[in-house]
Amino acid sequence: MPGTYKTEAVVLRSIRYGEADRVLHLYSATRGRIGAIAKGSRRPRSRFGGRLEPFFRLHLVLHEGRGELVTVTSASTVAAHPGLRSSGPALMAAARGCDSVLRLLDSEEANPPAYNLLCRYLALLDGEESASGDGAGDGAAGPGTALAFRLKLALAAGFSPELSSCARCGEADGLTGFSGAAGGVVCGSCERGGFELSPEAHRLMVEALGRPLASAPSASDRALRQAERAISETLEYHAHVRLRAAA
Ligand SMILES: [Zn+2]
Repeated sequence: MPGTYKTEAVVLRSIRYGEADRVLHLYSATRGRIGAIAKGSRRPRSRFGGRLEPFFRLHLVLHEGRGELVTVTSASTVAAHPGLRSSGPALMAAARGCDSVLRLLDSEEANPPAYNLLCRYLALLDGEESASGDGAGDGAAGPGTALAFRLKLALAAGFSPELSSCARCGEADGLTGFSGAAGGVVCGSCERGGFELSPEAHRLMVEALGRPLASAPSASDRALRQAERAISETLEYHAHVRLRAAA
C-alpha cells in the first residue's frame, strides 16, 4: 500500500545506480530488511550528504510506491561511527557483520533483538563502548567478539545451536562432538556425521551467548575455529545460508 513512513535503519550495503542514484540495502528497526533507492544522492550538493554509506545508522523517511524499492525522502544521522571508519580491523569486522545480517535476515518483519545487536556491535567497533574481552589484545574487532556476534545473530534469527544436551538423544553428559545436521552438540555415541568439539569450544559458545557482546569471551584459535564451524554448519543445514569466514 503506497505511503510514507519513518524508521531507523543501518545501511548494510550501498550500490551506485544509474547516473546519480544509490540503491541501499537497509536493516531497519521496524520493518526488517528494506531495499531503497536514493535519487540524486551522488550529486555534489545532494541533501543526503555522505551519510548513505555502509555502517551509518540513520533516521529515515521512506516512501513506498508500487515498485520493489522504497524511495528515501530524507535521512538524518543517528550514528556515523567515525572511529570504526578509521580502523582497518574494525572496518573488516563491520563488513563481515553486515554481510551476515544480509545473508541471514532477509525478512521484512521487524526483529528488534537482531537490530539492537547490530547497532551494539557497530557502536563497539566504533569505540563508543569499550570492550572488556578477557583475552589479551582481543577487543571489539577481534575474533572472540565476531564469534559472539554471529552466535547471538543466529539466536535472534531463530537458529541457535543446541548446547545444553545431545541434539540427537538428549544425553547431558559426554558431549564431545557437534553436528550441524542435528543442530547442536552431540554425545560420543551420536557423534558419527559430526566433528569433534573440544570442551573449550563448547564453553566458548555457552559463554558467548550468556554474556553481553561487550564482554565476549576469547579463546584459543583452535576453539574459535571449532565454534565458528559449529555455527556455520548449523546455519547451512537449518537456515540454508552460507556465511563468509569470520576472520
Ligand atoms: Zn546422543
